[in-house]
Amino acid sequence: MAKKESEHCSFCGRERKNVNMLISGIEGNICDYCVKQAYEIVGEELTGSDDEAGTLVLKRPKEIKAYLDQYVIGQDQAKKVLSVAVYNHYKRVIELSKKKSRETDTDVEIEKSNIILVGETGTGKTLMARTIAKMLDVPFCIADATVLTEAGYVGEDVESILSRLLQASDYDPEKAQKGIVFIDEIDKIARKSDNPSITRDVSGEGVQQALLKLLEGTVVNVPPEGGRKHPEQKMVQVNTENIMFIAGGAFDGIDKKIASRLRTNVIGFSTGEDEENVIDRDNLLQYVAPQDLKSFGLIPEIVGRLPVVSFMNPLDKGTLRQILTEPKNSVIKQFKYLFELDNIHLIFEEGVYDYIADKAIEYGLGARGLRSMLEAILNDAMFEMPLETNDSKERELRIDISYVHNQLQKTNIAKLKVA
Ligand code: ADP
Repeated sequence: MAKKESEHCSFCGRERKNVNMLISGIEGNICDYCVKQAYEIVGEELTGSDDEAGTLVLKRPKEIKAYLDQYVIGQDQAKKVLSVAVYNHYKRVIELSKKKSRETDTDVEIEKSNIILVGETGTGKTLMARTIAKMLDVPFCIADATVLTEAGYVGEDVESILSRLLQASDYDPEKAQKGIVFIDEIDKIARKSDNPSITRDVSGEGVQQALLKLLEGTVVNVPPEGGRKHPEQKMVQVNTENIMFIAGGAFDGIDKKIASRLRTNVIGFSTGEDEENVIDRDNLLQYVAPQDLKSFGLIPEIVGRLPVVSFMNPLDKGTLRQILTEPKNSVIKQFKYLFELDNIHLIFEEGVYDYIADKAIEYGLGARGLRSMLEAILNDAMFEMPLETNDSKERELRIDISYVHNQLQKTNIAKLKVA
């Protein structure tokens, strides 16, 4: 009889007849409900998550950079700056949630560290932001600042950025609030201060003003499907306080602003043995500072809300050569895999990668063009080689420089440039 009485869960007290399963231990029993709850608690503790921080795992800056290194070639300085900013951003998110649950009573408020990356198009700005989001497993979206300029109704357009993030979060505002937004071509909404008819340039400044609120953190009513507001459409509230914004732009001509700030002259003084000391555009970008962004036409408030500034190097031949083969999902790896699926071993002979990188430079195709080059080079083979039957015979395709040369001759290579 005594034994029967102890047949209840030692955690919640439910009797055996009220549970699906009761597991006996040395000191007592546990029911299936409590096992489930305990499992969830353990999961949350191990990932360091709580309601605010979701399932974020705080990675150290070095770990973040090491992750970026797998996908992005070069750009070491930008990677370091970004890794630290991301680390601080998520520390801030976790601190904020502690404050809300009164686990800490410090008066120090860590401000948001949104980022701005300055560098030519195709140098990996979007790739960096996307890779960070992938690493953190948070929603990611790209917002094109130029679209914001075209439409007149600023308020709606700014919300459309968040509609996109909401879409990327399966319409879960909680998820969206931890996401990363990449604002592309932020330089295109710069105020053109040199423009004499300054009154006609309000659109750029207007968009900047509208963006400001989002960057600093506000609650926005977002139409989940994007587009225009319909009265019957139910709005979703999204708080941008913990959304990380990464802005990017080519800022064509900012080198001159940097130069004049540095009191150097970009052109000239390239005399003989002084060659080493010539400051060229590539070197100038590395000195980019918030005041240069202001001189370029970003309003001071926006510059203030993008406090982490870094730059991207232009891609030289060596970097393009590495981009071909080294990233975890490099173009070459992808094509080899595609052929492998047809039991064809795709082999590139000595010198081919260098040849492709050379051509990419010669025709100004950039990293984006590498993929289209490979498509052009391998298209005939991809058309001819797959066998009709499910023949599992292994075959080999060797690509040498002359093959690449001939295939590229057939295509108008200049056409391969991706805007
Ligand atoms: P941006 O945003 O600066 O215009 P992207 O990040 O969109 O450039 O780069 C375009 C493509 O070029 C990427 O998807 C990637 O395939 C390749 N790429 C550019 N820069 C790099 C890099 N540093 N490392 C690896 N791939 C790169």
